[in-house]
Amino acid sequence: MTDFITFRTVNEMRTQVATWRNAGLTIGLVPTMGGLHSGHQKLVSRAAKKCDRVIATIFVNPTQFGAGEDLDSYPRTEIEDCKMIMDAGGNAAFIPSVSEMYPDGFATTVQVAGLTDMLCGATRPGHFDGVTQVVSKLLIQAGADMAFFGEKDWQQLAIIRRMVLDLDIPTKIVGVPTVRDEFGLALSSRNGYLDAAQIEIARQFNVILRKAAYDIAAGGFAADECAKAAQLILDAGFDRIDYVECRDAHSLELIERVDDEETRIFAAAYLGPARLIDNHSVS
Ligand code: AMP
Repeated sequence: MTDFITFRTVNEMRTQVATWRNAGLTIGLVPTMGGLHSGHQKLVSRAAKKCDRVIATIFVNPTQFGAGEDLDSYPRTEIEDCKMIMDAGGNAAFIPSVSEMYPDGFATTVQVAGLTDMLCGATRPGHFDGVTQVVSKLLIQAGADMAFFGEKDWQQLAIIRRMVLDLDIPTKIVGVPTVRDEFGLALSSRNGYLDAAQIEIARQFNVILRKAAYDIAAGGFAADECAKAAQLILDAGFDRIDYVECRDAHSLELIERVDDEETRIFAAAYLGPARLIDNHSVS
C-alpha cells in the first residue's frame, strides 16, 4: 500500500495520475460529497478491486443545491472521510475548494436533456445540471479509466452514462449496488439528520417499496401499486411524498405493466429534515 495522498488542486492530481500512468497503472475515480459511510466505502473497495490506484473526490458542489436546500448544513468530515477512503483501499483524496472548481469567470454548463426532467429533476430544478457540470469536470480532470457511482442514485447514474456517451468522455462508468443497513434502509449522508424515532420510520420506506415492486412484478397495474405504496409511506409517518413511480431502468420512461424490459420502482419522500430517495428492481 502506497502512502495516502491528498490533492487540493487539479494540477497536483494530474501530476500524480501521469506518474501512475507512466508506471502502467490503471486509475479508478469515486466522486463523493463527503460525509462518508459504508456505501461510499463499497464504491472505493469496488474501485480498488478493478483498478491499481483509486482516487475518491470530496466536494460539496454548490451548483447542485437549490435555494433553501442543505448546502450549509451538509456534513463536512474531511479527516474521518480520508480515513474511510484509506480503510476501503483508496490511495488518494481530491478535495478541491469551490474556487479551484469554479474560478472567477467560470461560465460553462453541461445539460443532459430528457432524463433530467422527471423524478428528482421535477422537484429539484437545476440539480442535475449541477451534477453533470461537476462530474464532467471531475472526469476530465482525473482522466481515470473507470468511475464508480452508486445505484442508490439511479437517475443520476443514468444521466451520467448518457453524458459520458454523448461527450465521448473516455472513462468507463460502473454502477455499484446500494448498501443498506440491517433493516434495508439505504445508507445516506442525510440519514444523519434523522433522530432515532425517524430512523424507525425511515426503515419502512424500503419495505413498502419492495412489496410494491413484488406486486407489480406479479402483474399489478403499476400506477395503482405506486399509489398504494405512497399511502403506506404516509401512514408509516413520512410527512410528504415527492414521487412513487415505476419506470424503465434505462430510458426512465413510465411503465404501466412490466414486460421484458428492466423496470424499477423509484421513490422520494420527506421525513422531518430529510428527503429520502430509494429505488428497487421490479422483477
Ligand atoms: P454522495 O456523496 O451522496 O453524493 O454520493 C457519492 C456516491 O456514493 C454516489 O455515486 C452515490 O450514489 C453513492 N452512494 C451514496 N449512498 C450509497 C449507498 N447507500 N450505497 C451505494 N452507493 C451510495
